[in-house]
Parts: sequence; C-alpha cells; structure tokens
Amino acid sequence: MKKGVFGKYGGQYVPDEMIKILNDLDKEFEKAVKDKEFMDRYYFLLKDYTGRPSPLYYAEKLSNKYGCKIYLKREDLNHTGAHKINNTIGQALLAERMGKKKIIAETGAGQHGAATATAAALLGMECEIFMGEVDVQKQKMNVFRMQLLGAKVNVVKEGQRTLKEAVDAALRYYVKNPEVFYLLGSVVGPHPYPTMVREFQKIIGEETKKQILEKENRMPDYVVACIGGGSNAMGIFYEFRNSPVKLVGVEPAGLGLDTGKHAAALCKGSPGIIHGFCCYLLQDEKGNPKEVYSIASGLDYPGVGPEPSHYKDEGTAEYVTITDKEALDAFNVCSRMEGIIPALESSHALAYAFKLAKTLDKEKIIIVNLSGRGDKDVEFVAKLNA
Ligand SMILES: *Cc1c(COP(=O)(O)O)cnc(C)c1O
Repeated sequence: MKKGVFGKYGGQYVPDEMIKILNDLDKEFEKAVKDKEFMDRYYFLLKDYTGRPSPLYYAEKLSNKYGCKIYLKREDLNHTGAHKINNTIGQALLAERMGKKKIIAETGAGQHGAATATAAALLGMECEIFMGEVDVQKQKMNVFRMQLLGAKVNVVKEGQRTLKEAVDAALRYYVKNPEVFYLLGSVVGPHPYPTMVREFQKIIGEETKKQILEKENRMPDYVVACIGGGSNAMGIFYEFRNSPVKLVGVEPAGLGLDTGKHAAALCKGSPGIIHGFCCYLLQDEKGNPKEVYSIASGLDYPGVGPEPSHYKDEGTAEYVTITDKEALDAFNVCSRMEGIIPALESSHALAYAFKLAKTLDKEKIIIVNLSGRGDKDVEFVAKLNA
C-alpha cells in the first residue's frame, strides 16, 4: 500500500510548499515511533499524567435493561475528559523532539483546543488555537480553559465562522510559518496526520482487548464508537480490524437524514476532497463541503478520515446513524442508570448500542467507546430537559 493512502482515500492534496513540510514531519514521526525512549515517555505520560489504562466497565444496569452484556470503555475518565488527550500528548512530544517552540491547532467546540493547550503547558511550549467566532461565543468555558492554560485563542471571522474556517485559517498560518508544529485533532488532513493520530489513539483498542479477555475470557461480539473525524473509532477499532468482531461506527443523523441537517458523511456522502485529503464527503454539485449539523459539536464535520472511509468500502466496519433525539435519550438514561454523564458525541454510540442490544441474545457482548464525559454539555441538556 502506498504511504498515506487508504484504498481510494487519503493522500496529500496540498500546495507544493506544504509537501516538504509534511514529508519532514512524516520522517520524524516514523523515527519517533521506533524510538524506545520516545515511546516510553509517551506511555509514561499517558499513565501518570492522563490516568491510563482507562477502565473497561461492565454496565450491569444497562445490560439488564437492554438485554445483553454492555461494557463501556471509559475514555471519559482521562485527564481533560476525553480520548483527545492521547493524541495531543503524542504529537506534542513529537513537536518537542523536532525542536519546535510553538504549537498551533484548530478547534470546533474547543475540546481539541483545550487538550492541545494542556499538552503545550505540560511541555512548556507556546500555543495558539484557531477557533471560529460562532464557536467562541458558544463555548466560552473552553475559551477560558485554553487561556488559563496559557494559550492564545485566535478568533476566525470568515465564512460560517466554525470548524471548517478554523482549519482553513490554521493551515494558512502553517504554510506561512512552517517553523511551528500543527497539531491536528482527528484522523483527518493530509498524510501523515491520519496515520499519526491513529497510532497515538490505537492504545484504546489494545487496552480494550486485554481487558475483555481478562473479564470474559473471549472477544466481544460488537465494538461501537461515534464518528466525527473518526479518531476515537479508529483508536478502538484498529486492534480488532482483522478479527470476527463486528465494528460499528455511529454518525449523527441530526434532525433526521431527510432534513438535510445532519453530518453523516459515511452514510450519505460521496468521495471528495477537503482540507488536503480524499474521503467520504457531504458536498454540493461543485464539490464544496456542505453545511453540516449535529447536536454534538464534536461530530459536526462534513468529511471523515480516509481510514474509516476505506473501512466502509472494504466492509471492515459498518456505519449507522442516530438522531439528536435518540442521542439525548441515551444521554439521560446513562446518566440516571449508571451515574455516568456521557458526552453528547459518545451518546450517539450508546444510543445505537441500546438499540442493537435489544435484538441480541443475553450472552452477547457489546463494547461502547465512551469517548468523553458530558460536563461540557450539562447546561445545554438541562435546558432541553426543562
Ligand atoms: C472530538 C470528540 C469526538 C469526535 O472526534 P473523533 O475524531 O471522531 O473521535 C467524539 N467524542 C468526543 C467526546 C469528542 O470530544
């Protein structure tokens, strides 16, 4: 397989001046992952700083309610509250190794921005985050978090003023300032980012496999994860990709697939190019990314990673959708029955797991990647519940 290409997807659709920067990054990454000292430091920080391994929790009450064994991979218990920190620590260490003094990143809801600012603070690096003006207004708490961690938040005022424009602005800055390190938040973007982010997230699946074998002495029947760009899904799927375990990715159907207000790139998109790579994309006739929507801002992206795109064509994973309403119901059920408030993103995976469990025999095992905690969502959901 050609480097950075997943079937028809991936690649480097970028200006010439960026190819060399990306290739240097790729070379350094390849060396780093083979360097025991580098990887030991990454594992050490994930353990003592982030709190890994995250537990695999048998959710007994949900299992009894829905009719088969449901396990939750507790990425919500990581420092900063989601799986994103696994990747930001990995890439920040790489930046340090390359002698970079400054990290930049894009952010939508501010979760990746906060995780990046955290890693930059930890390693004593300068940090600048690009965030759309609409998101800055909606996600004030994360803006404060980033600022407290010492990051500069650069407000992007173009176009829709959300994630897509934030990525555009960060990429423009990177081309002009190649001495900085661009820390991308999901398995998207030009090569080597999709491979690099997956490598820093695959620990989720490696731990999960060990944990389920210890607890059940067998492999699970299903592994379910929500899909924004696809990094928590690839993180937990990768270890199981060549096994009989059924992998299910859950996309946001928003207000319903027929309303046009959704972000289900794999289920409803077609191959196209966005932000320097090829993937399943929600696009108009001219190939421009469509406006997308989800109740979970972390899932709100018109494209999806090249590797999850290839998994669709190969049949390695199956993709389904869950509406806002179904995700909200799962959010409330999980909170009340298990005392775990999940992120709205993760609630999509939970909602599908609940539906699926009802159709399965009680000995079957479903593992849900609980990608993050819902603290960021409580105010919003409380208003909806009222
Ligand atoms: C950002 C985020 C996601 C979506 O990103 P992926 O790259 O698809 O994992 C999912 N869950 C949570 C909690 C997030 O913060």
